[in-house]
Amino acid sequence: MSKFFARSLLFCLIGLYFPATADQVMPNAVIANPPMRPAGFLPPPLNPTGITLERRKLGEGIYALMSNTDFADNSGFVVGEEAVLVIDSHFNGDMAQQIIDLVRDTTALPIKYLVNTNAFGDHTFGNYIFPQETKIVAFRGTIDALRISTVEGIANTMARTVDGDLSVFDGVELRIPDQGFEQSWSVDLGGKIVQVHWLGTGMSPNDSVVFLPKERIAWTANLVFGEGSIPWARSGNINQYKKTITALRSKLDPVLIVPGHGEITSNERVEIYESYLSDVIELAKQAKANEVAIISFSDSAEIDARYKINPNLMALMTGFHRWNLRVAYGEADTDR
Ligand SMILES: [Zn+2]
Repeated sequence: MSKFFARSLLFCLIGLYFPATADQVMPNAVIANPPMRPAGFLPPPLNPTGITLERRKLGEGIYALMSNTDFADNSGFVVGEEAVLVIDSHFNGDMAQQIIDLVRDTTALPIKYLVNTNAFGDHTFGNYIFPQETKIVAFRGTIDALRISTVEGIANTMARTVDGDLSVFDGVELRIPDQGFEQSWSVDLGGKIVQVHWLGTGMSPNDSVVFLPKERIAWTANLVFGEGSIPWARSGNINQYKKTITALRSKLDPVLIVPGHGEITSNERVEIYESYLSDVIELAKQAKANEVAIISFSDSAEIDARYKINPNLMALMTGFHRWNLRVAYGEADTDR
């Protein structure tokens, strides 16, 4: 049996057993390689080698763990009177150990919960380092995607983000989350409520937001990158991405955002994302109506100054922008 046929058959069988929509069960290995890389596109620089996490206190028992480069993964943890919840396990065992050490340096309370905000390796590959008694929680689509993925598959699709150095994945074991949720999940850590919400497809089909309803602090993972960024409609479906951002603003309305990548930001960035996505969708409609060719529409485009891009991220964001333009152009006739 050919490899391709075996894989197709596997997907069919998986489709029978997991009642989620097709793009929710798509493994990262597949959605990582859309047939489009516009001119100047750069893979996000995620190499964890030499990354240290800085603990920043955002409120009583509330900590962001910020990586010391412009775009490598951030994380965080919340401490209640009884237990600790960690947001994302980072890239590999070494990074997860850094997170555990920073928690242990803060409190002796048990790490009862770990949330995976999506199914990418840079958010889940440290799972296996956490104690067995730590319950790992994730959106159902994240679990479905991980179930049909392998460390090798995810690592290969992420090779460009780590300068081709696959040794960063050495020792990683895929640990599937223990508990799934459909729309939202919430827990009381002892005087500290933490919610996790899936608001719809965004950068990936599975992006989840960790939210403290009292403090209105959110960890937005890949859904909203940090200060001075624009979104990346990596998985397509740009109209839905906009709806998801609108839901983030109207349902949760966070005032402080710890992004999965980039610097801490505020609700102003959510508003910029919303208007940016509207603008891109509208521009693509006009370009298509005027019969502008896709390449001339996307591949030399620059980002308008009103989106206030961080100069350090300009090259990366320009690639995201061109990608978004291509996606929006391709979807301009549809109402996805
Ligand atoms: Zn990420």
